[in-house]
Amino acid sequence: MVVGAGPAGSSAAFHLARAGVDVLVLEKDDFPREKVCGDGLTPRGVHQLVRMGVDVTGEGWHRSRGMRWVCGERHVLIDWPNLARFPDFGLTRTRHDFDEILARHAQAAGARLHTGVKVTAPLTDRTGRVVGVRAAAGPDGEPVEHRAPLVIAADGASARLAVALGAHRDKARPMATAVRRYFRSPTRSGEEYLELWADLRLPQSDAWLPGYGWIFPLGDGRVNVGVGVLGRRGRRTPDLRAALAAWLERTPPEWGLDEAGADGPLRSAALPMGLNRRPQYGRGLMLVGDSAGTISPWNGEGICQAMESGEAAAEVAALALTRPAGPGRERVLQSYPAVLDRRWGRYYRLGNAAATYVLSRSGFEPLLTRIIDRPALVDGMARLLTNLTDDPSRDAVDHVVNTLVRLTPARAATR
Ligand SMILES: Cc1cc2nc3c(=O)[nH]c(=O)nc-3n(C[C@H](O)[C@H](O)[C@H](O)COP(=O)(O)OP(=O)(O)OC[C@H]3O[C@@H](n4cnc5c(N)ncnc54)[C@H](O)[C@@H]3O)c2cc1C
Repeated sequence: MVVGAGPAGSSAAFHLARAGVDVLVLEKDDFPREKVCGDGLTPRGVHQLVRMGVDVTGEGWHRSRGMRWVCGERHVLIDWPNLARFPDFGLTRTRHDFDEILARHAQAAGARLHTGVKVTAPLTDRTGRVVGVRAAAGPDGEPVEHRAPLVIAADGASARLAVALGAHRDKARPMATAVRRYFRSPTRSGEEYLELWADLRLPQSDAWLPGYGWIFPLGDGRVNVGVGVLGRRGRRTPDLRAALAAWLERTPPEWGLDEAGADGPLRSAALPMGLNRRPQYGRGLMLVGDSAGTISPWNGEGICQAMESGEAAAEVAALALTRPAGPGRERVLQSYPAVLDRRWGRYYRLGNAAATYVLSRSGFEPLLTRIIDRPALVDGMARLLTNLTDDPSRDAVDHVVNTLVRLTPARAATR
């Protein structure tokens, strides 16, 4: 059983169904529904869609060629790298229908999807093992129970299921907050680059904002615009609404990023990062996506990581379910945190350190301003931020980034 039909839950359900597992997905909302997000996918995220056979050529998918970083009076265009492991383009699509596409794709593969079912609590047996969930179904919230040999929590940043079982957030790991709003912007909507601004200031201060602003073109006449900041222990989250307003005042009026061009309200949400919730498996419950804190501490990207963790969990679960309930199955399930560790351990440990000691203090401006005129360094920074390299390395930039990650100890990141 999978709780939540965001990218993590639908990917887990798709891969489980493909493996021949009978899988039930419970989702509290009805589709289409909104999810506060920047709606941007790097080539790594596109790769996950390709792995699932999602058709990304039709209407509604807007391709990007790379990123455009702005820093003061200067800017730099960084094309997505031409790698053997990943596509050479990114995508944007609003979560309004992106999530439904993935959920329907999982359904087409054989998963059973029940929407309008809000899971309220885990069901446990006498030993404390999860054997299903309690839920409120339909408009009247009719109480229902669903049982399954394994439950995957894909319920997003609130992680209610994980919290109910005592899997708490590691407060030493980074956490970010972001606000976003849609604007009608015919001049910017067709752009081929995801735009990121490094030189934003904290409201009423000269200090750099510990994050960045984004303008992601959607290709439908609109752009997704937002500001995200890394949290810092003991510091209050800055007023992001004010930071966004101050930034947008600096943008040219013809871009339409003002109240008159706004399409819908400003919304905010939290970004749990760096695998900040553990254990990722315990007592019959696996955590995927935001519920496990899989968002990258390097750049705030989480859709791809949600899909990757969904696939990883499905692979472990399908293997475990080939064994009868008992210690043999349990041994397989307990390997799941190590699978995540192999995938992200070193990279996230380095990212958690970068986020905690550098980016949460002064953001990207001090670094970018020093290297913006040096293409190889900018390229290296971009590949590090987006986890896009070939391995084995095919050029010097890959080699440096891969070596840096390899030199980072792995285990402490997920323990
Ligand atoms: C402002 C902002 C901007 C962002 N921009 C980007 C970006 O541009 N690119 C990127 O890659 N990432 C971005 N992220 C991160 C990204 O949105 C998340 O990492 C991603 O959505 C995680 O997917 P998920 O499936 O784990 O969780 P979610 O997408 O949150 O899905 C969880 C699902 O579970 C359902 N659910 C919750 N509780 C229950 C319950 N009790 N019962 C049943 N169902 C339940 C929800 O309705 C939802 O459908 C951004 C995040 C924010 C906040």
